[in-house]
Amino acid sequence: MTQILDGKALAEQIKDEIANEVRHITAEGHRPPHLAAILVGTDGASQTYVASKEKSSHEVGFTSSVYRYAESTTEEELLRAIDFLNTDEEIDGFIVQLPLPSHINERHIINAINPDKDVDGFTPINVGRMVLGEDAFVPATPMGIMTLLNRSGIDTEGKHCVVVGRSNIVGTPVANLLSRNNEHANCTVTLCHSKTRNLADITRTADILVVAMGKPEFVTADMVKEDAVLVDVGIHRVSDASRKNGYYLCGDVKHSEVDAKCSYVTPVPGGVGPLTIVSLLQNTLKAFKQTHNL
Ligand code: NDP
Repeated sequence: MTQILDGKALAEQIKDEIANEVRHITAEGHRPPHLAAILVGTDGASQTYVASKEKSSHEVGFTSSVYRYAESTTEEELLRAIDFLNTDEEIDGFIVQLPLPSHINERHIINAINPDKDVDGFTPINVGRMVLGEDAFVPATPMGIMTLLNRSGIDTEGKHCVVVGRSNIVGTPVANLLSRNNEHANCTVTLCHSKTRNLADITRTADILVVAMGKPEFVTADMVKEDAVLVDVGIHRVSDASRKNGYYLCGDVKHSEVDAKCSYVTPVPGGVGPLTIVSLLQNTLKAFKQTHNL
């Protein structure tokens, strides 16, 4: 029987835990943790992501603020905004919603973020600390995947895990986390990408298959081993005139044919996505506690 890894339900549970902690913090006389976001331009997906981060922040009792900039904003203006957020004692953590307009160098912007407030875990300092196994802000999506596996009681030790996709924000960090020498990981990891030969031969050997390709319904039943644990990170809005709202959501996996083969599977939506936002909240709480010595 395939079991659904219900990310939405787990995210609600973790949000309750965070909200409880925030109540204790404020009862002791502290201000609530504060998460800020920089949003440049009017990209629809970015606006939606930032709005849901704001909503989740409020749900757990955080203060949340969004700094909005026009599409034409210069790199210098953004760097000034980051300078301000880096030192403002009222803000514990902040994110710069990506992608940025093409005239702005994303790396210049990310590298300017104070690592102690880098709750997205994208600065070289946090990436380096994570790879070394030191205490770090871990990027939200990989952290959410690990939380989902661990809190669902999935045994990872000694398992062959195949990760498809090597982006800096998902595939590469999750491959690193899964291969770490600790009780929550200890997998043998194979990292695949667009130049991988015979991809299906490799994915078929996976006890745990993590798919983060950005290709709608790419992974089919013949690519998956019987009883595999399947984590589908992809999220796509596909136009469909026959639907009331004109689209449907799908992942990188063709769930209609793959799910029945798996022991555990993350749905899309409601799998990895909700855990991504919760991880950002967890990182913000951690940043708050570090600066307040709690
Ligand atoms: P990227 O586009 O940055 O990376 C995609 C990766 O997949 C690349 O490494 C690419 O290889 C690899 N790839 C592409 N095509 C193939 C192929 N045919 N065979 C093997 N590998 C292939 O995507 P992201 O990592 O940013 O995101 C992946 C997916 O996850 C997207 O659908 C995105 O929307 C979703 N996502 C979901 C989140 C959530 O919270 N649920 C958060 C973040 C992302 P190469 O390096 O060679 O180009």
